[in-house]
Amino acid sequence: MKRTLIALAFAVAAVAAPAAHADNSNWTKPIRPYRVVGNIYYVGSEGLSAWLITSSQGHVLLDSGPSAEGAKLIERNIATLGFQLADVKILINTHAHFDHAGGLAQLKADIPTAKVWASRADEPALEKGQHFGDNDNGLTPFPAVKVDKGFGDGAKLKLGETALIAHLTPGHTIGCTTWTTQVTEKGRPLNVTFPCSLSVAGNQLIGNKTYRDIVADYRASFAAMRAIPTDVMLPSHEEQGDLLAKRQKLLRGDPNAFVDPTELSRFVDAYEGQFNQELARQQAAAPGVKR
Ligand SMILES: [Zn+2]
Repeated sequence: MKRTLIALAFAVAAVAAPAAHADNSNWTKPIRPYRVVGNIYYVGSEGLSAWLITSSQGHVLLDSGPSAEGAKLIERNIATLGFQLADVKILINTHAHFDHAGGLAQLKADIPTAKVWASRADEPALEKGQHFGDNDNGLTPFPAVKVDKGFGDGAKLKLGETALIAHLTPGHTIGCTTWTTQVTEKGRPLNVTFPCSLSVAGNQLIGNKTYRDIVADYRASFAAMRAIPTDVMLPSHEEQGDLLAKRQKLLRGDPNAFVDPTELSRFVDAYEGQFNQELARQQAAAPGVKR
């Protein structure tokens, strides 16, 4: 009986946390929005990032939260900062997973003039509203959204004096997009990188029939991301960059709270280590399967 109860407890935990996160309750927990650096503002929840990049000609919003509720939280944060929702011109996304794309449909409905830009490789997943590729967590569906503009590696997004570059870093999803921009903070130019996730997150690395190049893609992405000059790394999950701790430092008056030129390489190293471990585990579990 006791063993059954323990087994049941594990089963419930697994269902509650399909995306390899032990606790997702902070994904929809409000937090006061704030200016991070230059013209970049944090408008996400406590646990899930959303970034507003402003310009005199309108604004870009990166990521959407997990749901319509998550989108509404972001909209309130934009208003709290004194910006007009209608001035958001372009909605972009790190990748087509529900926790970062599930609010896009609601945002687009609420800002009818805003255009959704997405990598061509992630476009079908966004328009279908589900993960692409064989994944042990399943398809994790989310509200589908129409993509207005698909782009490839190196695409430039310009809006007023703001410019962003899209770097394709596939693996976590087939169209995972790392965005970069430059800002000026008190006269100092800073390279800012919004890295796409690099975690395995249930992806089948061995025998993935719908995403056969997944292992090669991850490896190329580790190298590509390391090569991006970065002073400020702004990830899509709080715990990927200790965002709450940095915010506290910022509020205490430390102008360099978010500046760390070594952080992105440490981020890549950590995920590459986890990836290699998980690849070895999956290879051991499926002997004889090449890829
Ligand atoms: Zn993801």
